[in-house]
Amino acid sequence: MTTSEELRKRREKEAVRIRTSLNRLRGEQRASIKGGESAVAFVEERSCIGCDQCTIVCDDMAIEVYKVPMASPLIKVESNQKAKILRADCTGCRLCVLACPTDAISMIDR
Ligand code: SF4
Ligand code: SF4
Repeated sequence: MTTSEELRKRREKEAVRIRTSLNRLRGEQRASIKGGESAVAFVEERSCIGCDQCTIVCDDMAIEVYKVPMASPLIKVESNQKAKILRADCTGCRLCVLACPTDAISMIDR
């Protein structure tokens, strides 16, 4: 019979394996995205759900959000938000591309 201590150790080992694998995947993904001084991030407005993930990861304060009117038959809200890149401040680091859950951000030539 498995003891709780054995189970805890197995879970810890599994967590390390998953973390390592995700970090490797992120590294590979990041390497495949164009970036650097010659690139700048771009947000496709219709794909942006205003979740704020990109503003959290951007160390260069190069993303701001703005309100857009919204009409929904399901929920009572007057506006949603969308993200916008401040081109002059964007360093092309690509972090926002990796953070965006809807793939709304891509890197384009500066
Ligand atoms: S590429 Fe980097 S610096 Fe530019 S907006 Fe995205 S996270 Fe900010
Ligand atoms: S992470 Fe993507 S979906 Fe979320 S606010 Fe930024 S651009 Fe929009």
